[in-house]
Formats: sequence, structure tokens, C-alpha cells
Amino acid sequence: MTPIGINIHRSQQPPAPPTDEPVIGIDLGTTNSLVAIMSPETGKPVVLPGPDGSTLVPSVIAFAGSETLVGFDARRCATLQPQTTVFSIKRLMGKGLGDLGRELEFLPYHVVESSMTDLVRVQIGDRFYTPQELSAVILATLKRRAEAHFGRPVTKAVITVPAYFDDAQRQATRDAGRIAGLDVLRIVNEPTAAALAYGLDREHDGKVAVYDLGGGTFDISVLRISEGVFQVLATHGDTYLGGDDLDRDVMRFIRARFEAARGHALGEDPRLLSQLREQAEAARIALSSGDRATVRLEVPGEPAFELELTRQQVEDLCSPWIDKTLEHCRIALRDAGLAGEDLDAVVMVGGVTRMPLLRQKVAAFFGGHVPLHTDINPDEVVALGAAVQAHVLAGKTRDLLLLDVTPLSLGIETMGGAVSKLIMRNTHVPCSASEKFTTFVDGQTSVKIHVLQGERELVKDCRSLATFDLRDIPPMPAGLPKIKVTFHIDADGILNVTAAEERSGRSASVQVTPTHGLAKAEIERMVAESIASARADLTAHRLIDLRNQADVDIRAIRKTLARVGDALPADERVKIEAAIADVERLAAGTEPDPLHKRLDELGKMTRRLAELGIRKTLME
Ligand code: ADP
Ligand code: MG
Repeated sequence: MTPIGINIHRSQQPPAPPTDEPVIGIDLGTTNSLVAIMSPETGKPVVLPGPDGSTLVPSVIAFAGSETLVGFDARRCATLQPQTTVFSIKRLMGKGLGDLGRELEFLPYHVVESSMTDLVRVQIGDRFYTPQELSAVILATLKRRAEAHFGRPVTKAVITVPAYFDDAQRQATRDAGRIAGLDVLRIVNEPTAAALAYGLDREHDGKVAVYDLGGGTFDISVLRISEGVFQVLATHGDTYLGGDDLDRDVMRFIRARFEAARGHALGEDPRLLSQLREQAEAARIALSSGDRATVRLEVPGEPAFELELTRQQVEDLCSPWIDKTLEHCRIALRDAGLAGEDLDAVVMVGGVTRMPLLRQKVAAFFGGHVPLHTDINPDEVVALGAAVQAHVLAGKTRDLLLLDVTPLSLGIETMGGAVSKLIMRNTHVPCSASEKFTTFVDGQTSVKIHVLQGERELVKDCRSLATFDLRDIPPMPAGLPKIKVTFHIDADGILNVTAAEERSGRSASVQVTPTHGLAKAEIERMVAESIASARADLTAHRLIDLRNQADVDIRAIRKTLARVGDALPADERVKIEAAIADVERLAAGTEPDPLHKRLDELGKMTRRLAELGIRKTLME
């Protein structure tokens, strides 16, 4: 057994002192990526356009000589220089060659397995890039876009991923963020983000389906929303079904018409194919709003070829694909144990859902009475939802309309005698909140959960409600166990606290009535005290968090130094050692500010070291 006492701490970064630094929301898509922020003027999320006026950044990177192009410029290179243009990099995130089957057939660039890990890399000329590094190029473009908007550095983001992404894919997304210089505060599921953009988290209790047909992938997710908590009931789809397939059919159609009219084959000239692809997609998009669209191909050595396409023709081509998506919807509903009519809404996501025929078919499939949410731009809705989540994480939203509320904040004890609050005073009940924690000591097999009530920052100043143990955690290095602590207060004010270690599935819980034996006068006294000692408390709490963080960071840096420190110049190592010594000295003191500053410097100073560490891990 591990040391008794309460040895648990926040697995996420400790709360920085409140700043007004913006947090951005990013939809890192297979086809298109976007960045959104919460507009201070309207209180609504908005997507940021680039210098070209478009809010979309095609998720394409082209290596042209010494230049790296991103977005629309890169996309134009795709057909002309297929081997040095990277698209669909999202498909490779967190994958080994063994996981990739069909993917490889579709990717014209070279994908190789690194000799030492089973993770893949992309070969461009004589350089090898990890999918994380390539995704980071796209993220960096979005980061710069936000920085241009705010006129200041941006370092914090929420990034969305498909609901079916596994741990390795999520971690790879976080790593991509880090390489781009972004602190990824949270990874959010794309369907959840879409539902957030529509404000569906405010629904009391509901079930919604999120239908997402993008450029190359189709996802259907069924979510349950209960008091602001999202649960994925089922998710299904096809990672090879999207707008690209529709375009291929339209291209085939145009090609056949050309060949019938001109009496010879269209050929495989890359420039002509590139035109054909662009024209087919443009016509298909135009036919979502108009009835007719003209396609024009500049054919070398002969007159240009023009063809008028009707909406009906394109609908006939697309219809079988739409039916295929509905098959997946059927399976997802079955997995969720629901019928179409059980849903409260269907949220439409992905550019292709602008197609009127698709909307009709989807509406009919879900029974005709379930409202289809299409008001928000379907290719922006995920990014907008990410911005909503980002805003919440920046601590900017606090609902002020309160009915039945918790009289005092509730939380648990964390390392060093601090209180980590999960539910704030005055939160409307019923309510839930959860946060992840981890162990502090290597091989720790149990943690004590101490449930507290009160407004003060330190355990000694709060009211102890209960303690319980989460046992039989398999021994792991400190920081690895993921302990999710969930607080749920039901409408009767009964608090249920559950702690679950996610890797092993161990869990334990306790039930208490926080208001039991609590007189009104006592609540008032506790609130008054907290106001009187707010400043001192905050300093004490910050100091504890910073000390914990210093401890975790220094241990990690020492480990990495031992592994890859040799690759750093001697003077850089000496500087790092000196900074570690400073941080240790300041952590023993009582002033949080200088500790925070030096710890930050240590973090920046060791960024290169951390990257070397990640590279080494990826190569092993
Ligand atoms: P992803 O999530 O895969 O990155 P998007 O949601 O941005 O992709 O969807 C891109 C797809 O949407 C492309 O195939 C594009 O042709 C298609 N698309 C965009 N606008 C329309 C429209 N008005 N009608 C039909 N398809 C559209
Ligand atoms: Mg998408």
C-alpha cells in the first residue's frame, strides 16, 4: 500500500492565475480546418476568416522547394505535385502501418513506418515528418490567424476530434497542438461541439443525433445530454464516404459526356484532371442552391468543353451515397437502443449536408417529426462549438439565472492540503461536474478521496463531509492513472461522489447530504470568512498548486535529461540545472509570483528538450 494521506493532484495544469488570455476553438478536419472565438461584442462564437476572406483552411500542406504552402494554395498543388502534397493527414494520426489498410491506396504521398516505433511517417524528398508535425503546420496557421485577430500571442486552445478517436489518436492531436505552440486545454468530440454550438447543453435531458458528412468521412453519433453532461450512446460511420466520393462520380459523368461529344478519351493529364476535379466539386456545390451549373474544361489543343449540369443529374448520382449513410444511421440507432422518433433533434454537420436532397432524406429517415438543425453553417458548426467550450474553460461563463442552488462550493482535497472545487456555490441543482486527477507517487495503488464543502481554498478551513478510498489501482508511474472524480447532486440535494480509475476500471463512491446539519447562520459565516480571507487563501492555494507543478515538472525534466540530455549543448544543460535549483529554492519559500515566473522560464527553456523526448519516444 502506498503512503496514507491524500495523495492526489490535478492531472491537468494547475489553474493559472486568472488572465484575460483568449482561448481559441479549433476544428482540425480531414478536409478543412477552422478557428473560432467567442465574440465579446455579441457573446456568440464566430469563425475567423483569413486574408483571403475564407473561414476554411483546407487541411492540405504542399512542399514546394524551400516553401511550405498551407490551405487553398497547397490544395492547388495536389494534382500537379501529388508526391509532395499532403492531405488527409488526420487519417494517419496515432496510427501504425498495421492499422492502415485502405488508407495507403488512397494517399499518393509516401507513408513509411519508422524503424523504431510502429508509428508512421510521411516521406517528402529526403525528410520524414510525423503526422503530428504535419497537423501542427495546419494548427500553426490557425494560431497565427487568431493572433492577427487579437493582435497578441495566443497559446491556449480547444481542439475537436471524431467521437471514435482512440487514446492514441487523441494524444497525437494534443502533441500536434504542443508542437504548434498551443496548450491544448481540452480535446472535445466533434458531435459534442456541434451540439454545444446549438446550445443543446442547456436542454434538461435529451437525446440528439449528430449527422456529419464531410469531405472524406461520414460519422453519425447519438448523444444523450443530461444537465449539461454529454454522453456518446453510439457512434458509427464510414471513414471512406464523403464529398470526395460524390465528386468522383460527377467527374466520371462529365468525362463520359466529354468522350461522347468529342469522340476521344479525356486522358490523364494532371492539369486537366485538376481542372476536372475543381469543376466537378464547384458544380456540385452550386447545385445545392441553384438548379443548373455550367462546367468548363480548358482542353489543350482543342476548343474548351462546356457542359450544363442539372440538380436532378447530380442528385441521381449522389442518392445511393446518401442511402449508404442512412444504413449507418440505422446501425447507430440500434446500438443506442433508440428509434428515430425517440430523438429530440438531429444536428447537421459537414459541408455536404447543405444538399437539399440529403436534408429531405435524413429528415424522412428520422421519422419526419424530429427537428433538423441546419441554421448554423454546417462546415463551421464544430469550430463554433469548440469556441463555446473554450470560453467555458477560460472561466468566462457563469450562469446567473439560479433557481435551486448549492449553498456552498463542493470539492475534494488535493496534494498539499488544497481544495479542488468541482461544484461552485450557487450552482443550480440537479448538476454534475467531473474532473480528472492522478497519483503523485510511483506505484501508488490507492487514493483517499476527501470530500469538502466551503468557500475557502485550504482543507483546514473547509467542512469535511466524507472520505473514502479508491483501492486496487494497478501500480503505475505517478501521473499515469487517470482518476475521474464525478460529483452529482440530484434534485433533492443529495451528493453522490464517484472516483474511477479509467485505465483499470476500478471505482468507488460515497453519498452524502451536504446541507445536513448546516444552519443558515453557518453558511453565512463560511461565506463571509471566505470573502475576508480571499486574498490570503488564493495565495496559499496558488503556492500549493505551483509547488505541485514544480515537483511534477522537475521530475519529468530530470527523466528526459537522463534519456536525451546528451543531445543538448552543455551550456543549455547548465542553464536548465540552474533553473531547476532556483525553482526548488523558490518552492520552499512563500512567494508564488517569483516561483511562477521561474517555473514558466524553466518550461520555455526545456521546450527543445521535451521535443527531443517526444521524437525519441516516437522513434522507439
Ligand atoms: P471535413 O469535416 O471532412 O474537414 P467539411 O465539413 O468542411 O469537411 O466538408 C467538406 C465537403 O463539403 C467537401 O466535399 C465540399 O465539397 C462539401 N461542400 C461544401 N459546401 C457544399 C455545398 N454547398 N453543397 C454540397 N457540398 C458542399
Ligand atoms: Mg468535420
